[in-house]
Amino acid sequence: MAITSLVGANLEEIGEAIAGLNEPKYRSRQVYAGIYKHLYHSWNQFTDLGRQLRARLNDKYSLSHLPVQQVFVSKDGTRRYLFDLGPGQKIESVFIPEERRDTLCISTQVGCAIGCLFCVTGRLPMQRNLTPGEIVGQILTMQADRGTSSKRLNVVIMGMGEPLNNYDNLMKAVRLITDDRGMSISPRRVTLSTSGIVPGIKRLAEEPVIPNLAISLNATTDAVRDLLMPVNRKWNIAALLEACRNFPLAQRRRITFEYVLIENINDSLEDARRLVNLLKSLQKKVNLIPLNADPCIPLKASPPARVLAFQELLARNHITASIRRPRGNDVSAACGQLAGRDPLHGDA
Ligand code: SAH
Ligand code: SF4
Repeated sequence: MAITSLVGANLEEIGEAIAGLNEPKYRSRQVYAGIYKHLYHSWNQFTDLGRQLRARLNDKYSLSHLPVQQVFVSKDGTRRYLFDLGPGQKIESVFIPEERRDTLCISTQVGCAIGCLFCVTGRLPMQRNLTPGEIVGQILTMQADRGTSSKRLNVVIMGMGEPLNNYDNLMKAVRLITDDRGMSISPRRVTLSTSGIVPGIKRLAEEPVIPNLAISLNATTDAVRDLLMPVNRKWNIAALLEACRNFPLAQRRRITFEYVLIENINDSLEDARRLVNLLKSLQKKVNLIPLNADPCIPLKASPPARVLAFQELLARNHITASIRRPRGNDVSAACGQLAGRDPLHGDA
């Protein structure tokens, strides 16, 4: 009999599994909490279920977390996880410890079809969507490793892949991540970053549980954005910002606009001025990300002086803009560097 994984199953689906074994309904809540709250990954850990039931569950259902191939630890404490999901199918997640919080950065696809010029993931062939179990599985693995911590936990959906191109699986994962009965991470602590899939943003706006929205803007004219992010040819800056203006924001919430600064491409003061204009009438903050270089990217990071000048112009115009420090650079864990690479065996 094929063994089905219950990681990624919701309470109803676990209920069906339990009903199939003629067990009472309350058992499904125990199983659900065991997987998502207590991070159990073997039926032996469910001491509250009784030996016989554990054996019957074990015959049919698995709970294994994702197969970790390797963990790369940076000098700054950042940990890059390389998961092996099958032949040629590597994905990565990143654990970023900070003073007051820990951040988990997770992937949604093996590869990415968008093909942005500045992003290493975009150079990979798009292979497939991750399942809900593979999406939450990344968090469960990193949380189990982290042990208990009183620090706050943030989840950013900013790893490999375009989350809104894997909409249904991603949203099922988001509902599991935020469910009080299980993982219980507040939607306010979950941020989804998109390259600008306008129909996906519109759909997201109708969801009962909505994570924070981050938009990878990266340019202030369609000509430059067309060049950097081919998705712009389908939904241009005006269409994207229109969808942002219609996006419902909870009180005191803002949309984050990510802006990768690339020398002489999008980092002039003229760009900064245009950005101020574009973002007028939006509840926003800006995240400036000096390009993380990689040998396979033919672009250069803006020098620090230009980054500061850009930030200053935004600040003078009352736009909060933080400069994102690269984390885990030495282990290729920084934004845009995730490529499923295994330094011991060359490229994926
Ligand atoms: N596909 C989604 C989420 C993953 S990319 C998206 O594009 O939003 C996460 C962030 O990394 C994006 O804001 C992207 O613009 C940024 N990024 C990609 N390549 C980068 C690089 N080489 N240096 C710095 N940031 C990069
Ligand atoms: Fe895909 Fe995002 Fe990289 Fe663009 S920046 S190629 S959308 S992962």
